[in-house]
Amino acid sequence: MSQEWNIRSRGHVCSICQKPLVDKTPVVSALKETGGGYERFDCHPECWKTAARDWEPFSLWDGVYLAPVKEEKKEPLKKEDAGELIRKLITLDDPAMKNVVYVLAVMLERSKILVERDAKDQSDGTIRRVYEDRKNGDTFVILDPRIRLENLAEVQAQVVALLSGTKTLGEVAKEEEADEAKTDEA
Ligand SMILES: [Zn+2]
Repeated sequence: MSQEWNIRSRGHVCSICQKPLVDKTPVVSALKETGGGYERFDCHPECWKTAARDWEPFSLWDGVYLAPVKEEKKEPLKKEDAGELIRKLITLDDPAMKNVVYVLAVMLERSKILVERDAKDQSDGTIRRVYEDRKNGDTFVILDPRIRLENLAEVQAQVVALLSGTKTLGEVAKEEEADEAKTDEA
């Protein structure tokens, strides 16, 4: 299940011809499923169209390449930023946090920080959604666990608590594990 949590960064050279991608020009991005996760391709549209290929992409989308910009210095001791929090959670790779990660991704999509590029139905009823960071092009493949409506408010409250710093990641993970145990019994 670990592949759901990988972050794949956008490349800065074309995966096919290896020449640099040009700022603010179209780019074709693709995810290829590999044994342990995904390999990401970012290519000039021409290269993607013309290069021979013996595999089918798991996901494929058109985007615009944006050259990296230097981040301005951030204020120290700022409240947890939602974009940083989701990266931290994806890196932690804790299955107990899957609901929190998904709700956070939806929040970031609503605030136009992430854009959904693709969605794949899974045989168990869950959905794997491909999100891309609008600014730096990072890709996240996030599991949509199909949260039940009656549980949604609780997960949203956990996300708010994490962002405001009233709860730690460890506390929320423990709550989620307890909830999961309850669901299993029911
Ligand atoms: Zn190229």
